Amino acid sequence: MNSKLQIKNVILADKDLASGLYQFIMTLSEGSKARLFYSQKPVWRLTGVTRMLNVPCPLCRKDYYCNCFEKNIAHFNQQIIEKDLIPEPTNS
Ligand SMILES: [Zn+2]
Repeated sequence: MNSKLQIKNVILADKDLASGLYQFIMTLSEGSKARLFYSQKPVWRLTGVTRMLNVPCPLCRKDYYCNCFEKNIAHFNQQIIEKDLIPEPTNS
């Protein structure tokens, strides 16, 4: 469990009801932002995370692309589920 990767908030950025694909912007408590990709099909799940380059990576301190967030996708997913940050949307 990495304390540098605490999620502060998550907002919906984009959705495509036809394909069931959703994109969220996640902000961490230390200021990093990342895109979260979700798919509704076949089941609601987190399919990817991409760090945005607004600040250097909190883990490796690079200010360009790295794979740290991808490697910690399970950690983000666990926080999201525990805190119910991204409930499955209803298509009604
Ligand atoms: Zn990194």
